[in-house]
Amino acid sequence: MINVDNWHTPKKIYDAHLHVFNYKGMVTRAKRLGFETPEEIVSYMGDRVGSNFVIPPKDDNALLLLWIDELQKNNVDKAIILPDWNSTDIIEIASKEYPDLFFRYMMINPHEEKALDTLRTAYSKFGVHGIKLYPPLHYYHAYDEIVMPFYEFCDDHKLPITFHMGISVGNKADMRYMNPSDVSPIARDFPKLNFLFAHFATGYLRELLFLMYHCNNVYAESSSSNKWIHYLPESLELKDVFEKIIKVKGTEKIVFGTDSTLFPRGWRRGIYERQLAVCNELGLTQEQIDGIFYKNLEKLMPKI
Ligand SMILES: [Zn+2]
Repeated sequence: MINVDNWHTPKKIYDAHLHVFNYKGMVTRAKRLGFETPEEIVSYMGDRVGSNFVIPPKDDNALLLLWIDELQKNNVDKAIILPDWNSTDIIEIASKEYPDLFFRYMMINPHEEKALDTLRTAYSKFGVHGIKLYPPLHYYHAYDEIVMPFYEFCDDHKLPITFHMGISVGNKADMRYMNPSDVSPIARDFPKLNFLFAHFATGYLRELLFLMYHCNNVYAESSSSNKWIHYLPESLELKDVFEKIIKVKGTEKIVFGTDSTLFPRGWRRGIYERQLAVCNELGLTQEQIDGIFYKNLEKLMPKI
């Protein structure tokens, strides 16, 4: 039996995955997915994860203040914020008002005509720390020509890229685009660009490990409840996932995140506690735990 009193807790907490879905984004999302009102989509999102969500406040600054309060309550020092696709409202406020509290990401759909211009403008006006891509949701292979200008931009400006590969983006996802193997030629050809795979590549742990074997610029990002584990033919626990990655690449390639989205659930403390428990059960040192819960991410973020 492990003695909890001897557990290490990280000196700081950085969350690599926090969605700041604002009201405007909810309205657009509702329309896109065929819902009449933002209330309907929020209730659909809540049903999917067994939570009662409420609509975000209409005022973006009020929404950010809610998150700041929530993060402070949970001793979270900094978080990557993910606004809606190709939207800069949230990161504009974050850069002006709270530059030290958040890393500013953009979620990019490369099929949208102005996506590259939006990214360029946001980068020069507000500073952007990285981007997130969702090939299975936006229907492209990670190696398709359409994405190349984004890789080149990120390579030029040292911006890391988080991929959502694998399952879990709802019934619109297309499995043809969700395999991390698609990133193999990109990670090879852009050796200075760093790639994070959210939720351990959501079901594609084997491919993620293969990719980590081939490339040194690939990171496993731990966010979400990682329910994909239940959809594998073999039995696997979260502890096994951490253990496998640590065995082949050490702790330096694991980055903690929660995938928090809406209130009143707020910051998903349970995910933090569970992952910290796993790290302690595996006997990780203080330094290794600091790495996973903040230092590895700190190293990946460009200084802007
Ligand atoms: Zn997410």
